[in-house]
Amino acid sequence: MSIKELVEISRFYGKDPSFLLAGGGNTSFKDESYIYVKASGFKLASIEEDGFVKLDRNALNRIWKKKYPVDVDLREKQALKDLMDSRASGETKRPSVESLLHAILPQKYVVHTHPAMVNGLTCSKNGRQIAEQLFHTRCIWVPSVNPGYILAKLIKTRLSEYKKKYESLPDIILLENHGMFVGAETIREIKNIHDFIIGTLKKQIVYEPDFSSVQVSKVEIEKIYNRIKNYPAFKDKYITFENNIEISAAVKDNTSFQKVCYPYIPDHLVYAGPEMLFIEDLNNIEQDIDQYRERNECYPKVIAVKMTGVFTLGDKEESSHITMLLFLDALKIAVYTESFGGY
Ligand SMILES: [Zn+2]
Repeated sequence: MSIKELVEISRFYGKDPSFLLAGGGNTSFKDESYIYVKASGFKLASIEEDGFVKLDRNALNRIWKKKYPVDVDLREKQALKDLMDSRASGETKRPSVESLLHAILPQKYVVHTHPAMVNGLTCSKNGRQIAEQLFHTRCIWVPSVNPGYILAKLIKTRLSEYKKKYESLPDIILLENHGMFVGAETIREIKNIHDFIIGTLKKQIVYEPDFSSVQVSKVEIEKIYNRIKNYPAFKDKYITFENNIEISAAVKDNTSFQKVCYPYIPDHLVYAGPEMLFIEDLNNIEQDIDQYRERNECYPKVIAVKMTGVFTLGDKEESSHITMLLFLDALKIAVYTESFGGY
């Protein structure tokens, strides 16, 4: 019954773009002996019971008694091996990289999402302070660190400090520049906590992102599209174009573009690249792309053109759309940060 409920809650948040995009996020359910965590390669929106990996909780607990090397790569490699070895017999799927974190949270159900509104808070310079004012002792704030063993260890320490201080455990974990974890004993409570968080944040929002469309000359878009396709590395790429009120404001000039120039959360880095390229003068587009390549050792996936709009590139039509979705997510987060003291 409980795995069925895990499937239900996973699909519920997986299908809602205000919580998750591009198949991100993960969920889990635990009983006395086992934890069932989303496996890599499955999307929450369409997950079935076989999309979860069964892990032995005792084996996972032993990870915390082990001594790992100081070297980051070696440590993560060994911890990952121990995570893989904690799978119940017969399991072949790969558990999510955040499985350790799911396992240390005491609640039966744990849901991890990346809502733009929540990330407006987690990416703001006053985020931590505001989170403490809004959620008091219900939440802990975790600074930005790489996912995996080290993040789980940091949260484990925070949880035991919290427990000593308050003799209870928080049900909300806010990860700086990433998203949130919510834990509860029932899926009803999971939904209530999410509603509480979003409802609380909504009251703080002074300006909602305005994605109403803006008219752009088709001839102009066609011209830029051809210039991008003319660049040798982009001749087979699929390109998506978008403009709206917020994009228009962001592509006004180099300064206004700064707020969306770099990734806010890991999803942006994965799907939109380490930097979004801003083209000030179309005559220099090839040069700008060359320089981008030198700076970042890869080609841009997002190309913004001054006073025109944003183009996203992908090997398939779908991937150029996903990159656009993640760019728009970054833009939303940028707008939401304005309600929490700016980024
Ligand atoms: Zn995440």
